[in-house]
Amino acid sequence: MPVPDDNDMPAILGGPPVFPDGPPAWPAVDPRVCAVLREVATDGSWGRYHGGNCERFAAAFREYLGCEHVELCASGTAAIELALRGLKVTAGREVILAAYDYRAAFRTVQAIGARPVLVDVDPRNCAIDVAALEAAMTDDAAAIIVSHLHGGMADMSRVMEVAERRGVPVIEDACQATGAAIAGRRAGTLGTLGVFSFGGSKLLTAGRGGAVAGHSAREFQRMRLYAFRGNDAYPLSELQAAVLLPQLAQLDERNDCRARRVGLLTEGRHPLPGLNRFENSVADAEPAWYKVGLRYDSAALDGLSRAAFCRAMRADGVACDEGFGAVHRTVSRSRYRSTGLFPGADEAHETVVQIHHPILLQDPSTIAEVRRAVCRVAAYAAEIRAREKGSATE
Ligand SMILES: *Cc1c(COP(=O)(O)O)cnc(C)c1O
Repeated sequence: MPVPDDNDMPAILGGPPVFPDGPPAWPAVDPRVCAVLREVATDGSWGRYHGGNCERFAAAFREYLGCEHVELCASGTAAIELALRGLKVTAGREVILAAYDYRAAFRTVQAIGARPVLVDVDPRNCAIDVAALEAAMTDDAAAIIVSHLHGGMADMSRVMEVAERRGVPVIEDACQATGAAIAGRRAGTLGTLGVFSFGGSKLLTAGRGGAVAGHSAREFQRMRLYAFRGNDAYPLSELQAAVLLPQLAQLDERNDCRARRVGLLTEGRHPLPGLNRFENSVADAEPAWYKVGLRYDSAALDGLSRAAFCRAMRADGVACDEGFGAVHRTVSRSRYRSTGLFPGADEAHETVVQIHHPILLQDPSTIAEVRRAVCRVAAYAAEIRAREKGSATE
């Protein structure tokens, strides 16, 4: 039993917060972005869409990714829709995706009238279970959506092998993994089409925005035909493209820094109590860290619930949240075709914790403080749990 000492208590029990000012802001003030903003304010491009900035960013992103085609658009969700349209996925056809995934993918499949087919994930890294994917394929399958989530990476070479054998195209969702790579090839270029998000919290941000990447002109012609209604219905603006350019130039450096900080966070001399790191099962994977996915083990923290653990971490100023709600746990069974049970997605639904990326660009000493916050919460887990119980019955 630790001797109660106010200074050593987690903030949720009244101790001094590890980060009194809360988590670092995102996006951070960036002089290069400030310079660009002044420029677009004076040259008038802030008021336009489609112009030099979009062209320059699309070209730079194409080169960065190493692919033939990039179509910029309004959001990652719009990118998923354009990709489905580009692949001629029509109403009534099936789209296979993971039961644990970003909700927008499922909703977009529904929005175009196609039928979602859910398959399980590997709870150790939230990646789609390739054997389950293969078993779910029927002649109705028009596309597969595969996401890289929370720093875990899907096994794209096995996914593509299965998909190509059946002639089904793959949309690789790299919205959380911009700049990640497998065997030197960028995430988002390993599927038939790749989708990216430039939403406000993402690694490259323009507040909103997205892109589709790919290798064949045919799909991009279809996407443009669909999106162009006398004007572009899903545009990324000149202003957005302008702020993305300097961020792209820094992305690799920042992703390297984030990866080193994740190493410090999860591979310290002592393992983090109650938090198990993701296990990447893909060879030569270089993940990008939008959220640091961790697997919470409540038993190691005196039965403290995951929600209470996240609340305690947030009280200490760490941006820590529960993972996604699995689709099959939150939508009616009639809205998708099921392929059996989803034990992996259930486990992810119940155990994933994610720490938001801005902390990963801070000094190593900051990561040591995050570890301290976790250890402090763990040391007082029973007390936090008792307090939560008390307040629940008040
Ligand atoms: C953020 C995200 C998207 C797209 O989000 P938008 O907010 O529409 O840009 C898609 N998939 C995943 C996995 C995401 O994290």
